Amino acid sequence: MLFSFDTNSCSRNHRRYTLCGLHHVEEHEGPWQQCKACFDALEPEMYAFYGTNDFNFEVLKEPPAFKPTRCSVCAGVIRLATDGYAMKGREYLCQPCALKEFPDLPGLR
Ligand SMILES: [Zn+2]
Ligand SMILES: [Zn+2]
Ligand SMILES: [Zn+2]
Repeated sequence: MLFSFDTNSCSRNHRRYTLCGLHHVEEHEGPWQQCKACFDALEPEMYAFYGTNDFNFEVLKEPPAFKPTRCSVCAGVIRLATDGYAMKGREYLCQPCALKEFPDLPGLR
């Protein structure tokens, strides 16, 4: 069957941006809602985003609390899920600061 409207099938965005998708792609065991490997693989902020965004068919009931990520230069809050940023060691730089710091860096995400 080429086309399926079964909402339980995994769409591309669902596979890429949800815990359910990550969990299946990585072939973890058990339910994704309780998977420690998924939890350990992501920043708590990203884990919460992956578990609760609109690509989920079923959202995480209790996403983890997380401290906002701040830019190490200007201390502005960076939303990892939606803002551009760069990493320098363990530090995060917001996009404007990253562009100042690394003007030659191609493809800042
Ligand atoms: Zn899925
Ligand atoms: Zn998993
Ligand atoms: Zn900054």
